[in-house]
Amino acid sequence: MAIHGAWILITMMSIWCVESKYMVYNTTSKTVPGKLNVHLVAHSHDDVGWLKTVDQYYVGSNNSIQGACVQNVLDSIVPALLADKNRKFIYAFFQRWWRDQSETIQKIVKQLINSGQLELINGGMCMHDEAAPHYIDMIDQTTLGHRFIKQEFNFTPRIGWQIDPFGHSAVQAYLLSAEVGFDSLFFSRIDYQDRAKRKNEKSLEVVWRGSKSLGSSAQIFAGVFPENYEPPSKFYYEVNDDSPIVQDDMELFDYNVPERVNEFVAAALSQANITRTNHVMWTMGTDFKYQYAQTWFRQMDKFIHYVNKDKRVHALYSTPSIYTNAKYATNEAWPLKTDDFFPYADHINAYWTGYFTSRPALKGYIRTMSGYYLAARQLEFFKGKSKAGPNTDYLGDALALAQHHDAVSGTSKQHVADDYAKRLSIGYEKAAKVVETVLASITRSSKNDSGSPVTNFQQAIASPNSDIWLQIFKNCLLLNISYCPASEVDLSNGKNLVVVVYNPLGWKRENVIRIPVIDENVNVKDHGGNKIKAQLLPLQNASLAIRKYYSTIYLGKSPSVTPKYWLAFSASAPPLGFNTYFISSGKREETTIATPSKNHVVISSKGKQKEVIKVGPGNLKLIYSTNQPKLVGYMSSRKMIKESVRQSYSFYSGNSDIQQASGAYIFRPNDTDSTKLGDGASFTVLRGPILDEVHQKISSWVYQITRVYKEKEYAEFEFTVGPIPIDDGIGKEVVTRISAPMKTNKTFYTDSNGRDFLKRIRDYRKDWTLDVNEPVAGNYYPINLGIYMKDDNKELSLLVDRSVGGASIKDGQLELMLHRSLLQDDGRGVTESLCETVCIQNECTGLTVVGKYYLRIDPLGEGAKWRRSFGQEIHSPFLLAFTEQEGDGWAKSHVSSFSWMDPFYVLPDNVAMITLEELNDGKVLVRFAHLYEVGEDKDLSVMASVQLKKVFAHKKINKVREMSLTANQGRAEMEKKRLVWKVEGSSKEAPKVVRGGAVDPATLVVQLAPMEIRTFLIDFD
Ligand SMILES: [Zn+2]
Repeated sequence: MAIHGAWILITMMSIWCVESKYMVYNTTSKTVPGKLNVHLVAHSHDDVGWLKTVDQYYVGSNNSIQGACVQNVLDSIVPALLADKNRKFIYAFFQRWWRDQSETIQKIVKQLINSGQLELINGGMCMHDEAAPHYIDMIDQTTLGHRFIKQEFNFTPRIGWQIDPFGHSAVQAYLLSAEVGFDSLFFSRIDYQDRAKRKNEKSLEVVWRGSKSLGSSAQIFAGVFPENYEPPSKFYYEVNDDSPIVQDDMELFDYNVPERVNEFVAAALSQANITRTNHVMWTMGTDFKYQYAQTWFRQMDKFIHYVNKDKRVHALYSTPSIYTNAKYATNEAWPLKTDDFFPYADHINAYWTGYFTSRPALKGYIRTMSGYYLAARQLEFFKGKSKAGPNTDYLGDALALAQHHDAVSGTSKQHVADDYAKRLSIGYEKAAKVVETVLASITRSSKNDSGSPVTNFQQAIASPNSDIWLQIFKNCLLLNISYCPASEVDLSNGKNLVVVVYNPLGWKRENVIRIPVIDENVNVKDHGGNKIKAQLLPLQNASLAIRKYYSTIYLGKSPSVTPKYWLAFSASAPPLGFNTYFISSGKREETTIATPSKNHVVISSKGKQKEVIKVGPGNLKLIYSTNQPKLVGYMSSRKMIKESVRQSYSFYSGNSDIQQASGAYIFRPNDTDSTKLGDGASFTVLRGPILDEVHQKISSWVYQITRVYKEKEYAEFEFTVGPIPIDDGIGKEVVTRISAPMKTNKTFYTDSNGRDFLKRIRDYRKDWTLDVNEPVAGNYYPINLGIYMKDDNKELSLLVDRSVGGASIKDGQLELMLHRSLLQDDGRGVTESLCETVCIQNECTGLTVVGKYYLRIDPLGEGAKWRRSFGQEIHSPFLLAFTEQEGDGWAKSHVSSFSWMDPFYVLPDNVAMITLEELNDGKVLVRFAHLYEVGEDKDLSVMASVQLKKVFAHKKINKVREMSLTANQGRAEMEKKRLVWKVEGSSKEAPKVVRGGAVDPATLVVQLAPMEIRTFLIDFD
């Protein structure tokens, strides 16, 4: 130790003896023609929640988990950029930091952005995942960020920067990039086999056309990084990184400029070998780097200086914008990419297809909140937004954060997932106040408007035929558990339960509503005072057990009353409007009770014992075999469909191989075979005039209710899965399967973020010859809307209520993964096994998940209508609000039916209004989406028209301006700037794409071509 100390002393003295000299590095370089240009792009990848929560990352707390502080990054970037105006940095999101800055710093940052030294890229509230989010949520979260950047900096991001998400979607390419006005999109995670081939063929950079319908009109230049979003090895410069620094002081030991320049040139040439044109990009940074920005810039200054003196290659400070411009200027023709980059594998046994399902309860919660946010913003607009609150902003922010690639993906640590859910819950409470106030105010009729106390609404949201409840009580996130205090009230004292049914869709609509009630002597009346048909279904023990357990978890105590029945009735509501229903106590007139019957044997007319029963009060019948007993058939006389259908539940055993286990990201089953659950489970049938239910206990931890409605042509499966038993030391991944004897020829179809359907072929990839190493996991795709298969006569579709993974592992069979519980970490950084639990005090059990999926069979070519229109109903269910009223005088003193649209107008069947929102500047943001692709439906894949004057019949439109998708620039202005990339081998022009024409300010009719989404800012008088 002593000798060592003395040596240090000598060294330091020698430094003092050397005359100090200030070295000026020449960093002024721009791109140079005829040379290999190495674009150094300085960046930091700062997740808004992964191993730590967004707040912990921001302030830099909880550093025992990960030493990461976003404040440090941004604080240190400013002086580092000021020190040399040639230095550049790109950043994806910094709203929170910005708000914490002094005016002086804000002024400096604005200058840095204006000069291009600091470039804001991507620009959403987060870098959203691309597998699990719904496209409406992707648009909303990107809009929030883009509008902030426009307002604060008058800046329009031009680069898509999706560097970390685990696979890349078609919707990201054409909708969230091209339609946003980006000039290029960069990312890194694609299949390792695909990457190898693309390196060989120099096709990592492509022109990507993600939409069949919008084709070249919505294409984007897309660049895949050669390895990842980090620097080449030996070029990492965080404080503690051990890459060799450039030591250029001859007076000191270890002078290494020639070696380092050689290594730089070698790395650049190796990248040039796999890249077209003489421009390569080095992503100089990675997760949470630049905590002390100077360490990176000091080295990059030197590299630029010495490499350019060396002259073999040319280095420069760059940004993705500069890089994109340079690529564009080469006039190169690029390979064409269509469809998407799913699934993603980074290794022979490592398919990142588990996260399509990971944390199914969080995924379900996010989807439910998405529909609620859409409806709440409509109601907020009708009444006028309160800037002071309560308003829907908090829910918007929470939902935006939840789209992050470690949030809805299910790949964060547990405490971070809890943080996301908590934010949603707070946002929901605030939005619920808006909804209550608006409904209370608009239901009051003018004659009774004398300042009397506003009706107190308690509300819930309901899925299409529904029992998904969200009470407004604090922290009560009681999804799916048959719990609704607002409807579980005593009506024997003559009170009426008033139910307001709000429809956020632009079509008239009728769905069966189900609410728990405590009394069996009830009647339902519509707003005209007519008694309507209703049906009581006894609550079964399985539902009551879930209700009791989960309400105790969320409320700290079990509910004081126990409802006996579900009350079901068919409710209708006008477009963007509501109807009111009244439930009162009394002798049942139009209400019937469904009595449970065990499976029974039916004797056929020929006297032979017929061991099947038909379930369903209407046209659609499900056929069950009673001796096995199980679902065996599907029959629709109206559709002339009769199909043998099987349904089952199984689980894959998660591989626990230490080299590569199944985990939060990765799906790696032990075997291609799965273990079937519940063969021979008995069932109970509840029959009635409105719906039939089949209750099946599949196993001790899987329960299913199948519903067939009189007026609906689909079957609804409600599954209750969990707690998944893992006492045997084996992680389990639970799937459900539907099969039919259909020759599907390895082919099936899955949606992209709930929008376009993409064709999938088992064990096959269009872009390369697939080595099949994981015959199950490698055939899984993300499902947000649905999955379907077809043969020569018919198509069989499944629609989902949240994002899940799905596949067709055998011809004639579709499967969905519903829940997973695993015992190992899969080695991708989260360092926790995905094994969700719930606890009462210290007693914990595995998480139970309740959800739904829907089945329908149509004649070939007719399935799209249901997938599209019902898909919209799943996303935007009826919003229900409850109150109580003495006697039945409500209708006299209240508005009990209303629509904001012209009473003789509805939106066309192929159009949905996906946004109606009053912005903080008073303008109103409106989006319409055509729901069909080109050629998808013979009647509906056509140009549609929306009459704005009739949609907003109660307001006067002053001005309408068409905007880019995220409303941060005019549509025309965006189109004018669009770069026109050349596609390799396409000598003839791309087929002409049809789009809706400009909106005539006099008629105000909006045209929408297939798959078009049009965004408007409207001023009302
Ligand atoms: Zn990330």
